[in-house]
Amino acid sequence: MILHNDPSFRIYFGDLKDDCVKSDKTHNIDFFLEKKTKLNLDGLVFLKQTHSNIGINVDINYLNNNIINNNLILFKNQGDFLITNIRNLGIGVLTADCLPIVFYDSVNHAIGIAHAGWRGTVNNIIYNTVKKMQESFGSKISDITVYLGACAKVCCYNIQPDFLKNLENSHFGQDAILKKDNLLYFDLPRYAYLQLIDMGLKSKNIYLNYNNCTICDTNFHSFRKQGQNSGRQATIISLI
Ligand SMILES: [Zn+2]
Repeated sequence: MILHNDPSFRIYFGDLKDDCVKSDKTHNIDFFLEKKTKLNLDGLVFLKQTHSNIGINVDINYLNNNIINNNLILFKNQGDFLITNIRNLGIGVLTADCLPIVFYDSVNHAIGIAHAGWRGTVNNIIYNTVKKMQESFGSKISDITVYLGACAKVCCYNIQPDFLKNLENSHFGQDAILKKDNLLYFDLPRYAYLQLIDMGLKSKNIYLNYNNCTICDTNFHSFRKQGQNSGRQATIISLI
């Protein structure tokens, strides 16, 4: 587990120790309750993730319409990104090999988080997250900082040739493919990085320090490594 502490916000990057999913594949509510307490949060919101490109602004209306015991709003609505400008409210995603990506707007003091697998990324979830921050908070690209969490990386993310058709309509598809020893690998974080740069983010505002490989680093849950019984790591950001 890593805590990225900034005077204005805090990011929790989870790992193999995160016990989000029980053996019967239901969510372990105790894990989320414990995280809410340990991170000193007033509330915690996660969505029912579907590899989509849609998400929700967690505003006061959303909170009022979703009052739940212990201020946990877990997996109630479908979507794959969350944004908010409410302080001490955690917004999070669960991942095993997909990319957790965190956004912070230093001027408008607003945050976002997205669950970006190849499918969501191809379908512009990163763009949609930033667009919703622009619409909701007036965020400017130049004021946004992004942190990439752990995901399946190009060292291990082996793909079959028919995967390439998923990238056919993408600007950066070919730039995110590596050929090595007659095998193909997908570079998901590079794909996300190229999209962010294309949107106008400054490269110095894209932090890759936490972007470990979930497959070859034994500290992480990985769907590709552990199969159907793989757990999930949580990534949570909150404004202070
Ligand atoms: Zn690797």
